[in-house]
Amino acid sequence: MSHFLARCLFVCGTLWTLPNTLLGLTVWVTLAPWGARARVVTGVVEIAGAPVRGFLSRFCGGAIGLTLGQTVLSWTPATHARARDHERVHVRQYLLWGPLFLPAYCLASAWIWLRGGDPYHGNPFEKQAYAVACIDPAVDDGL
Ligand SMILES: [Zn+2]
Repeated sequence: MSHFLARCLFVCGTLWTLPNTLLGLTVWVTLAPWGARARVVTGVVEIAGAPVRGFLSRFCGGAIGLTLGQTVLSWTPATHARARDHERVHVRQYLLWGPLFLPAYCLASAWIWLRGGDPYHGNPFEKQAYAVACIDPAVDDGL
């Protein structure tokens, strides 16, 4: 694939998943007064801080990472680094699926749960991400 074509596809994906990215940026803006900080790493907005950890604990079962479009929420810069490869797979999934990603992800999890499976690890989006990079939340790195 030529560099120009790859660039065009990236721009199209960025626009296609913009609603998801805006959702992530909204979380950041909402939590910023309590200390959430953002930085751009390889074209992705990484958001971290104590309120982000609280948000993920409250709404995402204590996950160390949550990707929303081209934003990734995580506890600290260290957890971002640990989860980066995994979350970048989700970023690429968002670029492909755009606004259909979250409904598709939820429907896949619901279908797997209804069939008695693990709605997280059985989800094909997670299987693809874990095939690239596992995240071990039990690693004790002082978090
Ligand atoms: Zn994942």
